[in-house]
Amino acid sequence: MTASIINGKEVSQELRASMTAEVKRLSEQGVVPGLAVVLVGEDPASQVYVRNKEKACHDLGFYSEVHRLDASTSQADLLALVDKLNKQESINGILVQLPLPGHIEEKAVIDAIAVEKDVDGFHPVNVGNLVIGDDSLLPCTPAGVIELIKRTGIEMSGKHAVVIGRSNIVGKPVSLLLQRENATVTMCHSRTANMKEITRQADILVVAIGRANFVDAEYVKPGAVVIDVGMNRLDNGKLAGDVDFESVKEVSGPITPVPGGVGPMTITMLMQNTLIAAKRAHGLA
Ligand code: NAP
Repeated sequence: MTASIINGKEVSQELRASMTAEVKRLSEQGVVPGLAVVLVGEDPASQVYVRNKEKACHDLGFYSEVHRLDASTSQADLLALVDKLNKQESINGILVQLPLPGHIEEKAVIDAIAVEKDVDGFHPVNVGNLVIGDDSLLPCTPAGVIELIKRTGIEMSGKHAVVIGRSNIVGKPVSLLLQRENATVTMCHSRTANMKEITRQADILVVAIGRANFVDAEYVKPGAVVIDVGMNRLDNGKLAGDVDFESVKEVSGPITPVPGGVGPMTITMLMQNTLIAAKRAHGLA
């Protein structure tokens, strides 16, 4: 059996097309979603991510600002910029690109972003609202994972979902969102014993560990949905997921490739959060 491929690029394009139409309608009411991205230092991967976000804003008709700050910028100066953006009416979403240089405390910066402009969904209030099931801005990659599972047409309710990885930015929020969809969720991590026995029970398997090609066919129940969040740069420069796609696709159900699976969804969900934040700011949501 060869699995069907979940095409994140295509889903992303569809979502962006419907957002473009909505942005056009909003602009007729004088509302233009605005995103500010702050980059401190010159990390090459971060520079690429920031450029992609800038381009996505441009393509969708959002207002965007990119603040490129020197790596030696003090925490106080960064917090002052966040404070200014919190107060700026043309800005509905603020994203401070992580990681930050070592002398800046990431938590202090995330905590300083206004909750309603926290389009990364990392502020403790948004995280808390996610935990208790209240309305919140959802973290982008986990929201993208759920959207991709929905697109398979496979009902999550009542299914056994296993998440490998328990980070604050992927594994934990994915597990909460799966519970919200009424899946029964098991979390695995680096201390999990007999992991294969657990993952082989999964109807839905989400992998977010950061180890290239770690999950092979032996981890997967025949027909299971497999979502690979991993993005690992190999020595030859190529990008690899955490799932050994070639072997797993022979046993799994719908599966995401890397690249072209979860990756494209992350920026799309960021744009969606900015649109939601803009509508809320104007009392339209
Ligand atoms: P992370 O913070 O390093 O967390 C990795 C998690 O995997 C930890 O919970 C760790 O367990 C677990 N783990 C590590 N080795 C394991 C093993 N051998 N068996 C079981 N669990 C293991 O990573 P992350 O930020 O969640 O990112 C995970 C991957 O997703 C990375 O490849 C990253 O690049 C990618 N990512 C992609 C996107 C996207 O847009 N597509 C966004 C974010 C991240 P412990 O907690 O026990 O240490």
